[in-house]
Amino acid sequence: MTQGAFRLFLPALTVLLIAAPTQGVAQFKPSRDEQVKVGRSAAQDVVKKYKVLPESDPRVKLLRQLSKKLLAVPPEGKDSFWRSDKFPYEFNVIDSKEVNAFAVPGGPIFFFSGLIDRMKTVDELAGVLAHEINHVRREHWARAYNDEMKKQLGLALLLGLTNANNEMATLALTASDLYGLKFSRGHETESDDWGLKIVVGAGFNPEGMVDVFEMFRKLKGSGAPPEWQSTHPDDRNRIKRLQDKIAKYKKTWPAKQPLPFDTAAMKAEAAASKNPATGGATGATGGSSGSGSTSKPGTRKALR
Ligand SMILES: [Zn+2]
Repeated sequence: MTQGAFRLFLPALTVLLIAAPTQGVAQFKPSRDEQVKVGRSAAQDVVKKYKVLPESDPRVKLLRQLSKKLLAVPPEGKDSFWRSDKFPYEFNVIDSKEVNAFAVPGGPIFFFSGLIDRMKTVDELAGVLAHEINHVRREHWARAYNDEMKKQLGLALLLGLTNANNEMATLALTASDLYGLKFSRGHETESDDWGLKIVVGAGFNPEGMVDVFEMFRKLKGSGAPPEWQSTHPDDRNRIKRLQDKIAKYKKTWPAKQPLPFDTAAMKAEAAASKNPATGGATGATGGSSGSGSTSKPGTRKALR
């Protein structure tokens, strides 16, 4: 999730803050209904700000298809977040080169076409999608909000600005606090772990998740760190951690499925394999090489 996306929440948050509890100690976590309300308002702002692709677009269709599979995975054990997940999810693709995806509270999830166009397999898309679903399901925004409010309360008490039972309603995050409000490293790990579980549960190849992180790492190497990465710290530890977890299943995974449409990444790969002289550009250029050779689906190689 980008900080830019959080900026969108500001008007809605002002409303929410007034509704913050005025007594009792420090339970600021917005309710499910409040999360949905905030998310709806944020999603409306996103739709106003960006061009959202129509549902006839193959990327939107696939995203929604995959989301159904992931959300249909039965809850594991006594996990209360999973069992009580009744968020009204919505999945959309924003027409933009930005390499990013984000979840707003309460259900709406957005992918930028720039991210999907760098993918090669359905399993990669499912991996990122599962990660984002878990930001919503596990109420990460609401928990981050709660933590921040508690911190503010602690500070106010420390400074003698308020006594515990009064004036809590006047306690408010400043705009600059909200800009800084983002998912913690712990939330990211949690989304990776639970994302992995539902990816496996839905029958995808979980190595797709790793492929995406590797792709981000290469992009970073090329000097253009994507937004998703800047808020989703992609380090070798994270990749290693996922790989270890995947290995622990001791399973043979189904073959990764190529995306059922041509993306820039596929076009670049097809062009590179036809014309090795261009030297394996990894799709970072958007595949507009001058060779003009159209990529036929048959030229797609098995992936890794
Ligand atoms: Zn994340």
